Amino acid sequence: MRTFKRMPLTVVRGEGARVWDEQGKEYLDFTSGWAVNSLGHCHPVVVGAVSEQARTLIQTSNQFYTIPQLKLAQLLVENSCLDKVFFCNSGVEAVEGAVKLARRYGKLHLSGAYRVITTLNSFHGRTLTMVAATGQPKHQEPYTPLPDGFVNVEYNKVNAIKEATTSETCAVMLEPIQGEGGVNIPGDDYLKGVRTWCDQKGILLILDEVQTGIGRIGTLFGYEQFGIEPDIITLGKGLGGGVPIGAFLAKEKASVFAPGEHGSTFGGNPLACAAGYATLKFIIDDDIPGKVKQTGAYMMSELEKLKSKFDYITDLRGRGLLVALQFDRDLSDKVVKACLERGLLLNAVKPNAVRFIPPLNITENDVDEAIAVLEPVLAEVSEER
Ligand SMILES: *Cc1c(COP(=O)(O)O)cnc(C)c1O
Repeated sequence: MRTFKRMPLTVVRGEGARVWDEQGKEYLDFTSGWAVNSLGHCHPVVVGAVSEQARTLIQTSNQFYTIPQLKLAQLLVENSCLDKVFFCNSGVEAVEGAVKLARRYGKLHLSGAYRVITTLNSFHGRTLTMVAATGQPKHQEPYTPLPDGFVNVEYNKVNAIKEATTSETCAVMLEPIQGEGGVNIPGDDYLKGVRTWCDQKGILLILDEVQTGIGRIGTLFGYEQFGIEPDIITLGKGLGGGVPIGAFLAKEKASVFAPGEHGSTFGGNPLACAAGYATLKFIIDDDIPGKVKQTGAYMMSELEKLKSKFDYITDLRGRGLLVALQFDRDLSDKVVKACLERGLLLNAVKPNAVRFIPPLNITENDVDEAIAVLEPVLAEVSEER
């Protein structure tokens, strides 16, 4: 089905930050499968863990315990402020599950409150219910009427959340930095303000960390940079080092599911959890978040030079290795296509903004290489104006 606007490229092999097409042409991949290949393509620890687990036990139902699931759950809990974990297979399943959990909490502790406040320009995934949570008309309009229970308010404005809160509200759900919405970074006090408000009202704060989690913005979890502790977080994308896995984590007090109230056939399967454990363990032991901070700062300073060189670049924003460059017009497709031809893969996150989401373990040399491709492309675009 024609759901994806594809580039004219068939990827047949990947290694580290590089992929190759059928003709053997090499590309530097600054898209990472949409922020998924956190350690690059086919990292040895991921390949090793998956191979070993495939020989040992691929799947059993959640009727039984498995070692990889327990190990990954323990690692997540020991390295976060959350206490309990539920495993699923994708980001949207994680967010959907988190909202179900908040609704259970509302039924049990908030007199049946069920509404969730989310923000405009957010992205929470593609199920019908998460489309209602996602505050972007382009994702909502094709599917109306949408499931009830969400209100989308302005991002980065605590008052908008306050005004939208009613006795029927059970939770507020936000991305610490909006990813698909164009890499939008809130003010320093926003999450603190929202946390205080949620505490005051006794409602839950859910952070959708499907994109910001697992080192992407320079800390293991995004919330660490905003001086707050959420009640629930969702994970996906980078957690499995390329293998599909999602999870949501909750504080003890919010972990209110009773047996049978939520579930998944494939969620938490040994193969995906082995990949997740190997990825997360490597990211923690090798201080990948610390490296992301450094490489991210370097990439930012190099992009800053390009921004001052070309006046049609109107904004540069990001944290760690989640960065966007914005133009004064809709030039993304043109820039992305020209970079592709020259061997650099970028993502057009908005018609007027390109996103840089390389593997978390890239080097400054990789950044230099990307800039060396991007600069002449931007110069050409500039001349054509
Ligand atoms: C990508 C993304 C999702 C959806 O994840 P899928 O694995 O595509 O279902 C949800 N929330 C955020 C913040 C995301 O970036």
